[in-house]
Amino acid sequence: MKKRHNPAVALTGIRYDDPYRGVNPSISDSATFSFEKASYMKATFEGKTEGMYLYTRHSSPTNRYLERALAAMEGTEDAYVTASGMGAISTAILQICRTGDHIVAGRTIYGGTYAFLKNYLPKLGINTTFVDMTDLELVGKAITKDTKIIYTESVSNPLLEISDIPALAEIAHSHGAQLVVDNTFSPLIMTPHEWGADIVVHSLTKFINGMNDTVGGVVCADADFVNAARSVNDGAAMLLGPVMDSIRSASILKNTKTLPVRMRKHSGNALYIARELERAGYRTGYPGLESHRGHDTFVKLAHPEFGSGGMMTIDLGTLERAEKFMEYMQEEGVGELAVSLGFYRTLFNAPGTGTSSEVPEEEQAKMGLTPGLVRFSMGLDDDIEHTWQLMKGCLERV
Ligand SMILES: *Cc1c(COP(=O)(O)O)cnc(C)c1O
Repeated sequence: MKKRHNPAVALTGIRYDDPYRGVNPSISDSATFSFEKASYMKATFEGKTEGMYLYTRHSSPTNRYLERALAAMEGTEDAYVTASGMGAISTAILQICRTGDHIVAGRTIYGGTYAFLKNYLPKLGINTTFVDMTDLELVGKAITKDTKIIYTESVSNPLLEISDIPALAEIAHSHGAQLVVDNTFSPLIMTPHEWGADIVVHSLTKFINGMNDTVGGVVCADADFVNAARSVNDGAAMLLGPVMDSIRSASILKNTKTLPVRMRKHSGNALYIARELERAGYRTGYPGLESHRGHDTFVKLAHPEFGSGGMMTIDLGTLERAEKFMEYMQEEGVGELAVSLGFYRTLFNAPGTGTSSEVPEEEQAKMGLTPGLVRFSMGLDDDIEHTWQLMKGCLERV
């Protein structure tokens, strides 16, 4: 059997050609770069040189280090880092689609992406059909002759639905469309390109950077796609300008090196709490539980050594109970009532009124996003048994 791509080894195994032999690569601190010969500038404008730099919106040495590390992790040829996850998502989509094109997207996706597809892209004549991505027949039926993208999340936000990536890739490719996968919830755990995804996007803001000190994003794809996106003539990355700052890029690169250790801990803690919650009779959503609807697909696709991820949900029935529970947990020091995820502290919110509030209420009801749903991003707690005791105390009060 072919040995599977190991995303952690790929991510952390890269050696840098630092001129000072620094163990971290030196930071490039320039917006523009000079050329030794005039002809080199022309060749660089035409995208024909590697290792020569023109202008930071196009590329910078420090951004290239982070791009190479993330491309290695996802097993794609190349990558382009952006100033935010939405910068990566909008760039990838606008690089592919033009007026008249059509997208099929999951109905339970990140609220910002949902709003971009639903409210923004129609202004450019690009329309989206939202479907339940776990129903492959529905996905196939939603495709039209104009469909250019099937857009999904490997583990969806906030319902943690699992996309059958190889099946979706087959549907996309048989219709001449591309499969774009947002892998923000499951770095290292999932490597969608290995299963046929054409483009993998991430919000680096979350687990990958893990420090909650910045927003950031990346588009991982083949070299032709990344070069086209950076084209000075018609590239979405070059012309819309969502570029990441080089200094921030250096900071994120260092944090990626602990991602394998962090993911294992996030996953271990989440599995512990999910099992306890389920045992105590609460409606718990976690891909690592056998009761989870997407468990089998998850097991088929995931790299088991990184566990089942740090994201988990519990349904408390009503928004009132959910809000009380979250306030008690914040008081007791379980974590923070905050949006976002992938932090060393546990973060929680009620997505119906928080991170998915862009999705209209009737749509939320259809997709099973109930008002009492609380979404957790489990932290790196050293004593998870103690955390469970605190949570149990809070649950008993609501
Ligand atoms: C946060 C998030 C985004 C958007 O990323 P930003 O860095 O906030 O722009 C996109 N997709 C998912 C799944 C996210 O969690």
